[in-house]
Amino acid sequence: MCPTVSERQAVALILNKPVHYQVRRSRRARSLNLRVSARKGLEVVLPWRWTLDDVDSALNEHADWIDRQVEAHGVRRGPIVREMTTGHSVLVLGVPRELCIEALDASRRRAKVTADNDSLRVRLGVDDMLDPKPAVEKWLRSLARTHLKARVRDLAVLHGFRPGKVIVGERTTRWGSCSSKGNLSFCYRLVMAPPDVIDAVVCHELCHLAHLNHGPRFHALLDRVCPDHKRLMTWLRDRHDDMFL
Ligand SMILES: [Zn+2]
Repeated sequence: MCPTVSERQAVALILNKPVHYQVRRSRRARSLNLRVSARKGLEVVLPWRWTLDDVDSALNEHADWIDRQVEAHGVRRGPIVREMTTGHSVLVLGVPRELCIEALDASRRRAKVTADNDSLRVRLGVDDMLDPKPAVEKWLRSLARTHLKARVRDLAVLHGFRPGKVIVGERTTRWGSCSSKGNLSFCYRLVMAPPDVIDAVVCHELCHLAHLNHGPRFHALLDRVCPDHKRLMTWLRDRHDDMFL
């Protein structure tokens, strides 16, 4: 193995084949951690004070595992970049919608996004044609706000909860959370999941209104409110990599 290491991106020879990887330092990590995903490729999480030599030995030691994983995820040459061009798709409420990117009339500038049948029609001003992501993200955020507010309201009434505000934003570590004031926050990308999966996350956060922890009483309540939540959470874990723009 002969890695050419920079702090962030590097290439290592694993079983004599080049593999792209990235190193991320973490203040919380206690030991070196190897992860492989479509979105990040091979990622080495390194405890803060460890050296890059530690990365080399870990890559060496786990060469067989890395080789199998990067092959299975198709990320030998680094993360899979999600293309936002006509023909590619975006998950909306669990259904892949094919992107259809068109130019607006020359006189118009404001992007227009509409969902029809199985597609997501994105009409953009000439200046924005190269990057449809901001328009799609804005549309998803707005759909997420409408959908999540309605589901929180309906499920709260159904199960007798009294939530505070519903906040929809971007989160990187959790799909939802509940504050001590009873406000519920969600990641807007949750709206890419099927409706029953979204409901399971909403129920989870609603149950925190009664128990602000993950103790046995919280779980007993969640089992009553959403008996299928374990299976539904599996969908979120399995499709995590598809829920990015
Ligand atoms: Zn929780």
